[in-house]
Amino acid sequence: MKFIDLGVQRQRIENDLKKRIEKIIQEGKYIMGPEVNELEHVLAEFVGAKKALSCSSGTDALLLALLAKGVGPGDAIFTTPFTFVATAEVISLIGATPVFVDIDRDTYNIDTKDLTHAIAAIKSSNQEDYPIPKNAIKNKLRPAGVIAVDLFGLPADYDKIIKIAHEHNMFVIGDAAQSFGAMYKGKRAGSFGDIACTSFFPAKPLGCYGDGGMCFTDNDDIAAKIASLRSHGTGADKYDNVRIGINGRLDTIQAGILLSKFSIFKNEIELRNSVANRYTELISDLRDYIETPYIPDDCLSVWAQYTLLTNKPGMRDKIQKDLNAKGIPTAIYYPKPLHFQTAFSHLGYPPGSFRVSEACATRVISLPMHPYLSEDQQDFIVEAIKESIQSHASS
Ligand SMILES: *Cc1c(COP(=O)(O)O)cnc(C)c1O
Repeated sequence: MKFIDLGVQRQRIENDLKKRIEKIIQEGKYIMGPEVNELEHVLAEFVGAKKALSCSSGTDALLLALLAKGVGPGDAIFTTPFTFVATAEVISLIGATPVFVDIDRDTYNIDTKDLTHAIAAIKSSNQEDYPIPKNAIKNKLRPAGVIAVDLFGLPADYDKIIKIAHEHNMFVIGDAAQSFGAMYKGKRAGSFGDIACTSFFPAKPLGCYGDGGMCFTDNDDIAAKIASLRSHGTGADKYDNVRIGINGRLDTIQAGILLSKFSIFKNEIELRNSVANRYTELISDLRDYIETPYIPDDCLSVWAQYTLLTNKPGMRDKIQKDLNAKGIPTAIYYPKPLHFQTAFSHLGYPPGSFRVSEACATRVISLPMHPYLSEDQQDFIVEAIKESIQSHASS
């Protein structure tokens, strides 16, 4: 059994996929060919954003968004420590300071009450209000923006986040790397905040066969800046450089692959939800031991991960070991909150700074999840979990 198995998907699109790739190879427009533009239009419309700018990865999408907002040294960017490293990495890379905010226990997304406290602490340089990075105590940082993460495919609470951010003159970037296709209050992920970023890494809900990403925005000026930044800060033409940028374009072949995969994507969102709902149903009688994911009524998750929360110490690791012995792959997202990573040790956050993130890191486990997981496979997985818990409970 594979954690993510896209064999069936490949069969479904095989003919279309081959035709598209063949055409791109024949035409030879490998960089910024017509498929790139077509993909941007199709996905902008799907998301409900005015502009879509494709780029080389989800990480570069976040980097481009921060660069377009002019972020740099002295700026504080608020995000959670319970996310993939890329979210905070790009903040540090351009010399700004990631300011961590704990997550909500039910959704794994940024806790908006904590966000208010963290902003107050940065403004007052006082860590008694909320844990803040070491360098924010000596030097006053400017609260510049929030990167809200849609963890496991569930959108963050954007109405609240945007309201808080605007009260403090801050921008909002949506890290929709895991949530492309998800919905919040009737709108698609990728349409929230000043700029939203997604990833087409192969394992994401809409993935290509390599690296890829995209920025979405309703703001024409920001869109023009990102278009320039992803192509060496280009101005009127290729050899006119008006700002410092990067080589951050999406390959034409990846755009073609994504167009092909997008043709069945809406159906795959439904399949993912059927798989997730069936997991939740089958696991619900274990609620004394594990919690199934919570999805607010006004949201649709796209289930980048199906993640359980175990409530007894040691149980998570035992379930993982028992399932592994039966050939069932599982994953821990994320075993180490970012404030415990060596790369962020300079921020000086002591253990206990973000209790929910720290607890979740020891208790979460993600199960095999993809649109084509069969009922037989699912029954086998759930049965293995039940056996593991029973032997743990009785030992
Ligand atoms: C995958 C991911 C990214 C980075 O995307 P890449 O395409 O791998 O660079 C950023 N943020 C989150 C939350 C992710 O899951």
